[in-house]
This record gives sequence, structure tokens and C-alpha cells, in this order.
Amino acid sequence: MADLLKDWSLKTKNFMESDVKKRAGVIFGLLQEQYPKVEPALDYTSPFELLIATILSAQCTDERVNIVTKDLFKKYKTPQDYIKVDSEELEQDIFSTGFYRQKAKSVKNCCTELVEKFNGEVPADFEKLNSLPGVGRKTASVVAGNAFGIPAIAVDTHVKRLSNLLGFIDSKNPDKIEERLKELLPESLWVDSSHLLATHGRRICFARRPNCHECVIGSLCPAFNPEKKKSKEKK
Ligand code: SF4
Repeated sequence: MADLLKDWSLKTKNFMESDVKKRAGVIFGLLQEQYPKVEPALDYTSPFELLIATILSAQCTDERVNIVTKDLFKKYKTPQDYIKVDSEELEQDIFSTGFYRQKAKSVKNCCTELVEKFNGEVPADFEKLNSLPGVGRKTASVVAGNAFGIPAIAVDTHVKRLSNLLGFIDSKNPDKIEERLKELLPESLWVDSSHLLATHGRRICFARRPNCHECVIGSLCPAFNPEKKKSKEKK
């Protein structure tokens, strides 16, 4: 691997496509070594719970969602439970996840569709998941990949940021990022790739102050900048 790394100019993002693929392969290999057990940060025991938790996780931390769903999942066990409760009561129950009115509406609409079209079951199919009210590509990918083992890449804020920093793409568009990662990675890595980038983003590559000098993929990253932390520490 050392020879492979030596051949790449890390001062430029103008890699040949084949080099980018090789680099992506090495990067994800190193991340897998660093984080051998990656899994969703959201707590759930069924595809339905994962679907609800993922809807609630929009603009909210996974930690906060887990606090809320601890009680929520005891109170609401089926789509019918969410449908029959008053909106105000549901809003109260999910209040601390933020955007609670819109989220309560999304959860209710989604559950209504689950009952009317899918017999109350969460469909094990990406397109059907994506067709549910309040379920975008990210949520559909999370559920498809983690609950059903369907190859999918969920592009969250960390995946978006790190894909750009690592020079895989120059775009903030989640659909384009998803498409690009799918070009670069084998299907077998799609689900874990989101977890690996999100874990690295949470533990090392912080948005404001990436910890480049402790980064296992630093030698492969065009944004490598160990001085950033040193200069901040001096202040
Ligand atoms: S080298 Fe720095 S910017 Fe690049 S992935 Fe690592 S922590 Fe992030």
C-alpha cells in the first residue's frame, strides 16, 4: 500500500478516475480497520421503529432522537397507534426533536400510507420506501440498508462534508454525492460507507476543526491540514 500512496500527488484534486477509485478503496479499507464495528447511531428493534426514528432525526442529533424514542416506542407500537392519536399529543411527545409539527404530520401521513398501501408493514423495497410521505432518499436508504440489507447509501451531513473534503466530488447535492459514491465503491460497501464516514466525522474530522494530525486517512486526503488545529490551540 505504501507504494500506492507514494504515487499520488496529494497536493492536487486532479486525480485520474482510476486513481480516485483506488484511493477510495484504500480510504474505506483504513476506515474499516479503524472502525471495525459500525452500525446505525439510532436505536431501533424493527424496520418500523427505524423508519420513525429516521424521520425524527432530520435536523436533530441521533442522541436526542434516542432519548425521545426510548419512551415513544413504548407508547406507540404500530402505525395505527400514530394514526389514532391527536396531532397535539404526538407533537408533544416528539417536541424536543425540533420541527415537531412538521414531523408529527410526516409520521402520521407515513403511517396512514403504510396501512392503506402496505398492510401496515414497512416495505422492503427502496422505491416503495421512497414513495412514502415524509420519506426522502436519505431516510429510504437508511431503512433499506440497515433494516433490510438492501445496498443503499444514506447521505447525511457527515457523508456530504467528508465526500467533498476527500475529493470524491465537488458538490453539496446529496443525490449527486450518493451517485458518486456508488460509482466509486462496490455494492458490498454501500451501507457501511455512510456509517464509516459519519463515524469518522463525529470522532476525528470535526466540521469546525478537523483533527488531521490524528487522522488515519490523512495521507490520502487533499484537505489534510495539521496546522489548523495547532494554530487554533495557540489562541
Ligand atoms: S485529513 Fe483532516 S480533513 Fe481530511 S479526513 Fe482527515 S481529519 Fe478530515
